[in-house]
Amino acid sequence: MSDLRDLYQEVIFDHNRHPRNFGPLVGANRHADGFNPLCGDRLTLNLQVQDGVIQDVRFEGSGCAISTASASLMTEALKGKTEAEATVLFEGFHHMVMGEKTTVDLGKLAVLAGVSEFPARVKCASLAWHTLNAALKNESDPVSTE
Ligand code: ZN
Repeated sequence: MSDLRDLYQEVIFDHNRHPRNFGPLVGANRHADGFNPLCGDRLTLNLQVQDGVIQDVRFEGSGCAISTASASLMTEALKGKTEAEATVLFEGFHHMVMGEKTTVDLGKLAVLAGVSEFPARVKCASLAWHTLNAALKNESDPVSTE
């Protein structure tokens, strides 16, 4: 188990150092801002959704290693998914970080399972996903984890 834990840590560090899909998105038609006042994480999420499918997704902002890695992993997981599939992933991810069982196949997102042991970090890991939820619903009010 400790080897697995090391591997998970490595993936999180890598995504924090080299965030995937980071930067502005030209042609975005969904947008939301997220803020986690507990930690100071800020995130802007832009998506291009066509016929219910997430064609592209990119994020900007600054936050701690967990929030950045989570956003980076999320954008990788979302490309090509339908909005319905994204909602399923959101729910599965939420259960995982709350330390609850999930039947959803989370793939690489499982590297963040360890945050369930650190309640203060759960909000860091969830910020990108709550922001996604708002973007898909096209809510214009900024998202706060508080
Ligand atoms: Zn944070």
